[in-house]
Amino acid sequence: MKKYICDVCQWVYDPAIGDPDGDIAAGVDFENLPDTWVCPICGVDKTQFSEHEE
Ligand SMILES: [Zn+2]
Repeated sequence: MKKYICDVCQWVYDPAIGDPDGDIAAGVDFENLPDTWVCPICGVDKTQFSEHEE
């Protein structure tokens, strides 16, 4: 599964971890996050995220 990075604050969404603070369980792909989900750090929506290559 791909990681995604916030273009605004550089926080990385890692599907292996999910977003416990946002009620997202581990194993949820970025594409499957609800449209209401926002960056836990800066609060922007999913459109502000880019694929993160490591
Ligand atoms: Zn952010």
